[in-house]
This record gives sequence, C-alpha cells and structure tokens, in this order.
Amino acid sequence: MNLADAYNPDLFRQQGHALVDLLADHLAQAESGTAPVLTYAEPDEQLAYWQADFAQPTNADPLPLLTNMIQRSIHLHNPAFMGHQVAPPLPLAALTGLLTGMLNQGQAVYEMGMTANALERIVTGWLAKKLGLGAAAGGLLTSGGTLANLTALLTARAVAAPADVWTEGTTNRLAIMVSDEAHYCVDRAARIMGLGSAGIIKIPTNDRFQMRTDLLEPYLAKARADGLTVFAVIGSACSTSTGSYDDLTAIADFCQAHGLWFHADGAHGGVAALSDTYRPLVRGIERADSVVVDFHKMMMIPALVTALIYQRGTDSFRTFQQKAQYLWADADAQDWFNSGKRAFECTKLMMSAKVYTVLRTYGEGLFAQNVEILYGLARQFAALVRERAGFELAVEPESNIVCFRYAGQTSDPAQIDLLNSQIRQRLLHKGQFYIVQTTLRERVWLRVSLMNPLTTAGHLAALLDAIEG
Ligand SMILES: *Cc1c(COP(=O)(O)O)cnc(C)c1O
Repeated sequence: MNLADAYNPDLFRQQGHALVDLLADHLAQAESGTAPVLTYAEPDEQLAYWQADFAQPTNADPLPLLTNMIQRSIHLHNPAFMGHQVAPPLPLAALTGLLTGMLNQGQAVYEMGMTANALERIVTGWLAKKLGLGAAAGGLLTSGGTLANLTALLTARAVAAPADVWTEGTTNRLAIMVSDEAHYCVDRAARIMGLGSAGIIKIPTNDRFQMRTDLLEPYLAKARADGLTVFAVIGSACSTSTGSYDDLTAIADFCQAHGLWFHADGAHGGVAALSDTYRPLVRGIERADSVVVDFHKMMMIPALVTALIYQRGTDSFRTFQQKAQYLWADADAQDWFNSGKRAFECTKLMMSAKVYTVLRTYGEGLFAQNVEILYGLARQFAALVRERAGFELAVEPESNIVCFRYAGQTSDPAQIDLLNSQIRQRLLHKGQFYIVQTTLRERVWLRVSLMNPLTTAGHLAALLDAIEG
C-alpha cells in the first residue's frame, strides 16, 4: 500500500460506510439478544487464533478482519450483559468517537484542542452543578477513574498535607483513610504516592458494606498516636463489590472538624445526583473537596471519560507543581484552557466531545433515565432473588449492583462457594448470560451489574432459571 493512498478520502468514505453498516447489523443482533453475549475462548486459544491471523498476507479489504473482531468480543449491547461496570455505549457517542479519532486534538496546549478544551470546561461545569458543588467548583476530564483518583489524592496532598512532598520527597509519614470495601485503585494510588501499607488506614464496613463512620474518630486518634499524619478521607459512592454508598455527610462532618481533605469516589455511582429518585444516596457529595465520576460506566459514553471535579477549581492547579516552559508561555498562570497543566496526561483524548454531543442532541434527561432504569432493575432483581427458594441475597442493593448466590439444599459454606464458582464458569462458557463473581467476607457470591437499559425483568427471571438449571 502506498502511503498517500492510505490517506485517500474516497477510500475512507467507502470503508466508513461499510463499517457503519457492519456495526448497525451488530447492534441490531446484540440488542435482540438472540446470539450469545460472548463466545468464550480460553486465553491461549484466542491468542493462537490471532497469531495465525497475523501470519496471513495483508488483505486490502478490512471488513472480514473487523467482523472477526466483533465476533470474538463480548457484546455489551446484549441485554444478557450484566457483568462488569462498563456501559453499552450510545451509538451517537461511539460515532462522535470516530470524529475525535480523526481530529486527534492533543489538548495539552490550547491550540491543540481549542474546541476540546472549551467543551471540557462546559461539561465539567455542568456536572459540578448537578453534583451540587458551589460556584467556585471546576475540574477536568481524565483517562479513567483510577487516574482521576490518583490525581485527586495528589491534589489533596499538595493542598492539605503539612509536608511539601513534591519538592522534598516522602520522608514524612502521611496517611489516608478509606473503607475496606473501596475500589482497589485507591490503595494503588496511595502506594504509588509512597504512603506504604501503614499510610492506608482501612476503616471496617458495617453489615451493609458501608464505611463505619463511627470508627473514624478512634482510628484517627490511633494513627496520630502512631506518628502518622492523615490528610484525606475517601468516601465510596458507591463501592464496587456491592454498590454500597458510604455516609458522605458523616465523612464531610468529620473532615471539616479535623481539617482533612474529603474525596468522594463516585466513579460508578456519583451519577445518582442526576436522578430525583436516587439523589438522596449521594447526600453530602456537594461538600466534597474533590469528586470523581466515570462517564464510561453509568453515562453510556465509550471508555475512557472521567470527570474530576474540585470544590475550589483553583486547587486543580496545585496538583502538579511543575514547570514545562517549552509548552506554556506562562507556566504559573492558572489558565483553564491549557489542559496539560492540571491533567496527568500530556497528549489527551478529546473526550469532552462525546459527552457534549450527547447532552446537546438528547438532553441531560437521558442520563437520569438510564440511572433510574438500571437502579430500578436491581431492585426488581433483588425481589426475584428473595422470592426464589434456594437463592440468597448478600445485601439489599442501593445501586445497580446485586450480589447473590444459589445454595439449593446445601448448608456447607465451602460447598456453596464451589457451587457458585462453578455456576459462574458454566454461564461464561455457555455465553447465554454474562455475570461475574466476588468475594464478600471470604465467601463467594455471584454478582450482576445491570448496565444495559434494554435488560428487562424477563431477562432477570431467565437468568435465575438458567442458574437453577
Ligand atoms: C470503576 C471504579 C474505579 C476505577 O475506574 P476506572 O475508570 O475503571 O479506572 C474507581 N472507583 C470506583 C468506585 C469504581 O467503581
């Protein structure tokens, strides 16, 4: 292939039309639920297939290859997809992704993302308002909740810790407090920051898997007695395994009383703020110093798009107290439009465009509808589980995540664990449903995250039938 031909607009037009047709057919089939949600292949088998494919001579028509990629992937638009917390993307958002892929705005400096940077400010400002943060709030978009949580904790350390770690290094003994049900990325972020095991104070959870906020005071006292300096508390809204919301108001009160940074990890469930029905779950989030919300989980945008919002937008300029003179004429200026000053990334995806296009085309009501349908489905599913003999619910769901298991006539815990692991394996290999499993208090539970708004009560009942079978 000649390089100039590879850039030919007519070739793009032809390939693009063919690909959109292919994806539309895929979408129709996936949404109908008539094909398996995934056709499982063992990792080595999958690798061997693609190694053999890679050894083939080039083919000027990419369609057979792209068709294979679709067939050999899990299909999030299938209503039987109830596994991990990744959204079946809105087709319009995926199409916008084609546009952003073509424009490839790097964003770190203003001219490399003029529209992208402006849209990012509007989208984060919109979300800040929805979360109920004050007029000084502001933030940025970044590549995923994991990176956003790390960024928020770096800001927290820069603002709230008594030590200047950025300049002096980590000779101090800093610490954070977080529930033992928090997402593993918080632990990872703290270790990257050099806090070590001692610097991650895990607060036990209650029988609903929420942080025991009554233990914050005694744990802080103990940490101080041990010579640690706690600078932040992280609330989960919601947690990952069970989808439980911490009492954010209690955490806010505690942080206020002790001058600590309050970070709310709303990667999955911060979106409840958009729904009149479910907003009470995030009461207190409006008092957080920083909040993380993933658009690629509950907001139907393809990965990765994450908002990191600060109560005081200007705090975001303190995260990376670093000069990059060759990029910015004035490295100290707090200019919102040079994305690289505040974001971890240098080159960054033009993520704002997908969110903005959905908001301007369909309106924000679509996001609220999605939350209400998915959280409603979880409550329906919990009711079905409770009614069926042999099934057991781990905890009443607060979000769209439900943990449950099948015990049948068995009462031996080890046997129930084994049975449920086998059920999950069997479902994975059959491909009729996609669900996952988790470990709670050392026992195995099946877990669904209802991510697809096209899933119905009928699919949920069919899942229970399949498990019983
Ligand atoms: C998913 C999740 C994360 C991690 O976000 P990614 O976008 O997957 O990096 C962090 N915290 C919580 C509570 C989550 O649910």
